[in-house]
Amino acid sequence: MELLKQRIKKDGIVKAGNVLKVDSFINHQIDIELMNEIGKEFKRIFSDAPINKILTVEASGIAAAVIVAQYFNVPVVFAKKSQSINIDGSVYSTKIESFTHKRVYDVIVSKKYLSPSDNILVIDDFLANGCAVDGLIDIINGSGATLCGVGILIEKGFQDGGKRLRARGVRVESLAIVDAMNDETGEIVFRH
Ligand code: 5GP
Repeated sequence: MELLKQRIKKDGIVKAGNVLKVDSFINHQIDIELMNEIGKEFKRIFSDAPINKILTVEASGIAAAVIVAQYFNVPVVFAKKSQSINIDGSVYSTKIESFTHKRVYDVIVSKKYLSPSDNILVIDDFLANGCAVDGLIDIINGSGATLCGVGILIEKGFQDGGKRLRARGVRVESLAIVDAMNDETGEIVFRH
């Protein structure tokens, strides 16, 4: 998506440790005009899929997921980071290792909000090593719902999450794929 790539080039900041900061338009301040275009683009890409629910993980996926959901006219469910374990069996749970915080979270989704009749689109802001998406797929599989695809705003193509998921047959659609970035020069290289 050209608009997103141009914006990343203009306002994205490359940090040490392979982290791309997009705080001024996605992760802290949110550019709603850009998000609306992102929503339209995912609706166009996944127009052939019978999506009835969008799933993401808190916190940074929620904003994008909510706007994308408006174009599909479906609810959003977000996996919550949880302190308590699943004692009464009322939630689906899994573990997600955070790339940016370098720690493992237990995340949960109430069984009330996912069922075998659901056709799910997973949305997240970034795809790096794929732990967040792996965790969400684990939850979907546990619920018996169907995964229609994964929509990512920014995929870091030099990390192996995207490659691994596609090799498993998961439909991953990323609006911008960064193939290289340099924290000294600030240079960001996109795929095609
Ligand atoms: P993964 O689980 O694929 O390794 O990482 C994806 C998650 O980590 C995303 O939900 C996102 O919040 C965060 N993340 C990974 N890489 C970056 C990055 O370069 N910049 C930002 N802002 N977040 C990232």
